[in-house]
Amino acid sequence: MELKRVVGSTYYVRGSPSTLIHIQSGIAYVIDPGHSSKRARRIGKELRSAGVREILVLITHYHSDHYSSRSIGELGPARVLAPAREYSLIASGKARTLLTYGYPTSKPEHFILHPVEEVQGLEVLDVNMLREVQTIQLPGHTEGHTGFSTEDGVLYVGDAVFGDRVLSAYPIPFHTRPCDALQSLKILERLAGRHDYFLMGHGGLVRRADVIEVLDSNAKAIERGFVEVERALSRGLGTPGEIAYHIISTSRESQEKDKALVGLTEIIVRGYLACMYDDGLVEPFVSHGGLAWRLARG
Ligand SMILES: [Zn+2]
Repeated sequence: MELKRVVGSTYYVRGSPSTLIHIQSGIAYVIDPGHSSKRARRIGKELRSAGVREILVLITHYHSDHYSSRSIGELGPARVLAPAREYSLIASGKARTLLTYGYPTSKPEHFILHPVEEVQGLEVLDVNMLREVQTIQLPGHTEGHTGFSTEDGVLYVGDAVFGDRVLSAYPIPFHTRPCDALQSLKILERLAGRHDYFLMGHGGLVRRADVIEVLDSNAKAIERGFVEVERALSRGLGTPGEIAYHIISTSRESQEKDKALVGLTEIIVRGYLACMYDDGLVEPFVSHGGLAWRLARG
C-alpha cells in the first residue's frame, strides 16, 4: 500500500517530496505527485481501486522534484492546476532551468538535477475550482509557493518548511526570498492551532504538538543563513559564487563541492543578498569577478 491514512479522507504517500491526497465523493486531490513515474503509477492504481473517478493534481511550486509530465500521466487522466505565479515556470522547462540555475540550458547533464521538460495541458489554479481543499499563500521558497489545507485538518506545507535532514544537508536553506520565507513561517505559526497535522514536502508528517518546534528550527536555519552570508562578506568575499563556495566549505558537515550543490547555493545566496539589499544592509560594486556585494557603510 502506497497510501497511508493521515486522518479522515486524507492520505499521504511517503517520498521526497511526500504526496498528500484528499479523496472526497470520488474526486482525488493529489498534491505534489513527485517526479517518479513508477511511484505515480502505483498511486494511480490505488486511487482507481478506491473508486476515484476524477483526479485533480495540485502543484505547490515549480521545482522539478515535485512533479513531472510523466509522473502526472501515470496517475491516470487528470486536470493539472498550478498557482498563477508559478504557472509559466511549470509549463516551460527552459524558463524553470533559467530561474533555478541561472542558465537557460536544455542539456541536463553536469549541474542540472532534473531533465528539462514541459508540462502539457496545465491550467491556472482558481480557488473556485476547489471545494474540499483550501489554498494558503506561502511565498519565500518560491514567489508563488502555495500550501493546501484539507477540511479534515491537514496542511500540506510543501517546501515552506523542511525536516531536520534537509536542514542539515544544505549549508543554507533553499529559499529564493528567505526574508519572505520567514514571514510564511509566521503565517504557519498562526495556522498551527487549526491543523492536526502538517505534511512537509521533504521531511514527512508533523503532529500539532511538534509543529512550533519544527517552525522554530526552520526560522533559526534561515537566520543562520543570513549570518553565514554576512560573515563571508565581512571576510571580503563579494560575488555570489565566492560566498557560496565559502559557506559550503565551512558548513557543519563540510560538503563535497559538486557542481549542482555549488550552482544551487550560488542562486540561494543571491536570494539572501536580495533581502539584505532591500533592508539597506549590503551594496553592490563591480569587481574582477563581476557584480559583487559588500556590507553597507553606516
Ligand atoms: Zn522546492
